[in-house]
Amino acid sequence: MSIQNKLIIHQKLLDWFKRNHRKLIFRETKNPYHIWVSEVMLQQTRVNAMLVSYEKFIKKFPDISSLANSNLETVLAYWKGLGYYSRAENLYKGARYVMENLEGEIPKDLEKILQIPGIGKYTASAILSISYNLPVAVLDGNVKRVLSRLFLFQGDIKKASSEKYLQNLANEFLNPENAGDHNQALMELGALICIPKPNCVSCPISAFCLACSQDLQNQIPISKKEKEKLFIRLNFLWIEWNGEVLLTLDNERRFFKKIYALPFWIEGKNLSKDYLYKEKIFSLLEVPPKPIAVLPNKHSITHHDIEVLVYKSRLEKLNFLKLENTKWIPVSELEFEFPSSLAKKILKSLNSSQNLFFQ
Ligand code: SF4
Repeated sequence: MSIQNKLIIHQKLLDWFKRNHRKLIFRETKNPYHIWVSEVMLQQTRVNAMLVSYEKFIKKFPDISSLANSNLETVLAYWKGLGYYSRAENLYKGARYVMENLEGEIPKDLEKILQIPGIGKYTASAILSISYNLPVAVLDGNVKRVLSRLFLFQGDIKKASSEKYLQNLANEFLNPENAGDHNQALMELGALICIPKPNCVSCPISAFCLACSQDLQNQIPISKKEKEKLFIRLNFLWIEWNGEVLLTLDNERRFFKKIYALPFWIEGKNLSKDYLYKEKIFSLLEVPPKPIAVLPNKHSITHHDIEVLVYKSRLEKLNFLKLENTKWIPVSELEFEFPSSLAKKILKSLNSSQNLFFQ
């Protein structure tokens, strides 16, 4: 691409971005901490699904020190609904690191910022370019799609070598004077126009797009088939006593390693050992678990398609055993103490008439 064309595309992207970008609360700020939080939330969650959680999180933890001075349990509770709780744990560790080692300031330096726990290349680039307008190119899924089409890159974008190639391309294509807006323009174009089924007629840079010129925009980017879905059954255990329900914390189980959850076991075909691991609590049950509810819709966690059942059992003696990493909580607080969207679904299902026949 000639330098002249590159400059024209840069300008077209900036003009388009200025007129068309969504007024998202986390895009209206240059606060590096707020950008950090939003980028971490966006890593595995769609914009619409994270907005409410983002606002609540920032209200509770408006700056790095408030996050660092909190405790992990509260931080995880405010991550409710977003899933992938290791992101929240890393964010918390990162905030503590910044307070303890960097005097509470996020550095304006790529090498230093990458030393903060939980901040990888993508998040670092987003913070440095958007907050400080430093010339660092971001490369997320949307940017990869736009660049692959614009430059007709025909490698498999899932490969590590392609990642490297596209990162170099993004670096070369960067608009160094307006790095923050340039990066955001590419991300926004990929989110609104250059979507999987692209809307090329509305694209500000279609005249320069190599994929579009060869009518290959629907074939690019090339990506090998996603990992196959694994069907499993997640059986939760509902143990209620005196209006309270039992939660456990166990970092050896397959899901919810970081948060308190209803105890569960997993069933399915050809599962590896880590799926079949059973929590200690199961060996203590006073009566065999009996099914009381089944969730009407399948649930999804990464590449798992999950059927969810709820069983009940009894474990009153646990009050006297005082096992570590267990707690009784009022049923009304389940959604807060077990911060997963499943908690709400389970409560709804337990209250619905369709499950009464199990009782
Ligand atoms: S012309 Fe189409 S394929 Fe090319 S960048 Fe624009 S939206 Fe994407």
